[in-house]
Amino acid sequence: MSEIKHVLGISGGKDSAALAIYMSRKHPDIDVEYYTCDTGKELNETYDLINKLNSVLGKNIRLYKSIDELNSPEKNPFDHFLAMYGGYLPSATARWCTGKMKLEPFENEIGNTPTISYVGIRGDENREGYISKKENIQSIFPFRKNIWSEDVVKKFLANSNIDFVKKQYELIAPKGKLEMILQYVEQPISLRFTQKQKVNALLDTDVKLFNKVVFEFLKTTDYPVGKLERFSLIENDEVLGIDDIFKILDDSGVGIPAYYLPLEYEVEINGEIKKGTYSRSRSGCFFCFFQQKIEWVWLLEQHPTLYEKAIDYEKEGYTWTIEPLQELKKPERVNAIKKEHFLRMHKNKTNAKTSTSWQDEILEAEGEGCASCFI
Ligand code: SF4
Repeated sequence: MSEIKHVLGISGGKDSAALAIYMSRKHPDIDVEYYTCDTGKELNETYDLINKLNSVLGKNIRLYKSIDELNSPEKNPFDHFLAMYGGYLPSATARWCTGKMKLEPFENEIGNTPTISYVGIRGDENREGYISKKENIQSIFPFRKNIWSEDVVKKFLANSNIDFVKKQYELIAPKGKLEMILQYVEQPISLRFTQKQKVNALLDTDVKLFNKVVFEFLKTTDYPVGKLERFSLIENDEVLGIDDIFKILDDSGVGIPAYYLPLEYEVEINGEIKKGTYSRSRSGCFFCFFQQKIEWVWLLEQHPTLYEKAIDYEKEGYTWTIEPLQELKKPERVNAIKKEHFLRMHKNKTNAKTSTSWQDEILEAEGEGCASCFI
């Protein structure tokens, strides 16, 4: 049986940090290699988090390098690639940064070794993680009810596979559940009964049974999980949301990455001084173009040197956002951005609901961006 590698990428964000702790505590039987891909432009809080994790995990987090820094004139991954791209700043539509500094080093490091990659997408999120185009890399999502990636589910639930799935359930499902399960299994996927409905129906009936049958199916394929003799994740039916993530981080002593914590700001609205709070909603480079305007203001006020460094990159018509940072830092713009943010955060209050919390704000911002940098 070939050697299977288990890896978990730590972006510096809360979810991957919590997943690393979770895997080390709940699945110590799995020998996970924890790794990070440094862009050279992360916030200090991210480097602090990785240092704390090193001691909590009792293992060194490996650095998957994107360049040979000693032999690069820029001595830094982001600056190295920026020079290669002729000063062309990355953006949401031309995101060379993630590919060059996160995905390529990951795939180079893995090579052709069959590999299982654990990804910290939470049970309360509605997004798919990165699924490698390389067939030897399989993603698993331990925080979700459905731990399997979309490509696996598609093959497993294909109408042509119904007989196999039925036979496996017949072998292991208790009598009391089998009849109901077979109703779903035998019903082909169609416009009236979609793949999503089918997977949800089977998971709602019994998560562990579903996982066991998928595991048997994977043994008939080249997927890395199918090459394992046992896989403790198939006994897992926990679903973890954002509160669980914060609890894992708190309980472990690692704590919540400092940039998520709300800080107070003051803003004048109609002659009155109001107090709001701001923070960063995600990890990643300090100049990340996915930041919201209020996060740029947070950077300006909390890390003014980094803000100035971000300005230094804006040259010859290349800017991080539509509004150049020199404009955004003007007091009238800062006040306008805070005002808009304060009113948006407190809009719900006037609708007799509670105002938006900093956790809500993180949740709202999460839809955008990329799993490699922010999970
Ligand atoms: S954090 Fe933002 S700028 Fe940095 S690599 Fe990721 S997407 Fe690119």
